[in-house]
Amino acid sequence: MRGAAPVNAPGARRRVAVLGATGAVGQAFVRLLAGHPWFELAELAASGRSAGRAYLEATRWIGDAPPAEVAGMTVLPADPEAVSADILFSALDASVAGEIEIAFASAGRMVLSNARNHRLDDDVPLVIPEVNPDHLALLDVQRERRGWPAGGGIVTNANCAAIVAVMALAPLHQRFGLRQLFIATMQAVSGAGYPGVASLDILGNVIPFIDGEEPKIERETAKLLGTLDGGRVVPAPIGISVHANRVPVEHGHTICISVGLERRASAADALDALREWRGAEAARGLPSAPSLPLRVSDEPDRPQPRRDVWSEGGMQVVIGRVRNDPVLDLRLVAMGHNVVRGAAGASVLNAELLMAHHAQRLARP
Ligand code: NAP
Repeated sequence: MRGAAPVNAPGARRRVAVLGATGAVGQAFVRLLAGHPWFELAELAASGRSAGRAYLEATRWIGDAPPAEVAGMTVLPADPEAVSADILFSALDASVAGEIEIAFASAGRMVLSNARNHRLDDDVPLVIPEVNPDHLALLDVQRERRGWPAGGGIVTNANCAAIVAVMALAPLHQRFGLRQLFIATMQAVSGAGYPGVASLDILGNVIPFIDGEEPKIERETAKLLGTLDGGRVVPAPIGISVHANRVPVEHGHTICISVGLERRASAADALDALREWRGAEAARGLPSAPSLPLRVSDEPDRPQPRRDVWSEGGMQVVIGRVRNDPVLDLRLVAMGHNVVRGAAGASVLNAELLMAHHAQRLARP
């Protein structure tokens, strides 16, 4: 059963393109956009290594069979001269995403990005539709400050672990206020792209280091839970400490969180807040939105990536082990699909939010 009536298509399907279509996140975009009710997957782009080749020949396809409609497509260079769509999903490697995304936005195109490059720019919205859809108002500041033509802009989604953690934390922040967070992640290998971490490094092992990950999770969590004020986001004033670990799991980041609150709450109060949370109204009924953003499990040994990662197509975050904490106030475990909810699905949901509520910010079809 869905949690909200579906939002109707806002007009004809829009032509969209995927930048970085050959990589791990790019492939997830291709799967999610094939047959999408609002978007038509019209173009695929990647590096000069892949451009000019048939998509399936240039791509080391991971997982189930690829959608039939991509078979005959030729990979284009990731260049606004070569790609004509006005809405771009970016799964570009961070070494090149910064410049390429700016080139598209300054040509009047809307970029929905997974890359880290612009997430913390003052005028770039970092959005989870259920949590902070109002931050999309930064697009006006962005366009004015950068002098981009109508339709041009960059909207980002957060780091995959930050998205899963913030989905679990938003209801607690809204009801009790967050003061301190201690976060330890167990992150799946698919979060490192393809071919990612060498098998001899990760099989039967845990690597207690992911380059740049801990400060990203700390800063992005504060921005996502921050408040829009006078054309900027004031980060939420929360003390945050993160330990990031890579573990031999295929998909699904598991995150153990201890929480210090502004207003006292028991584990039972927290469970009520998590179970009752529906997320922001603006996100309800969007085609990729899960019926409920969170599923709270009562079982003592859940969530587990193997059993829970595909909950609602990978778009739902699963929470468990909500209990009192003897040092801070509460502790819990959150788990979500890093490539779907934490990457491609997050961008598709952001694009649906734009289409449904901010169509005037997109170039005309
Ligand atoms: P990946 O598998 O390494 O794929 C990188 C993509 O970037 C490929 O399509 C590659 O094309 C393209 N690329 C590389 N150099 C390029 C260039 N000079 N010009 C144009 N395209 C170029 O990486 P991924 O895991 O999919 O991650 C993609 C982005 O999403 C990264 O910024 C990453 O940090 C972010 N992200 C990933 C996850 C996750 O769970 N994996 C989660 C959140 C965010 P070729 O095949 O032609 O080289």
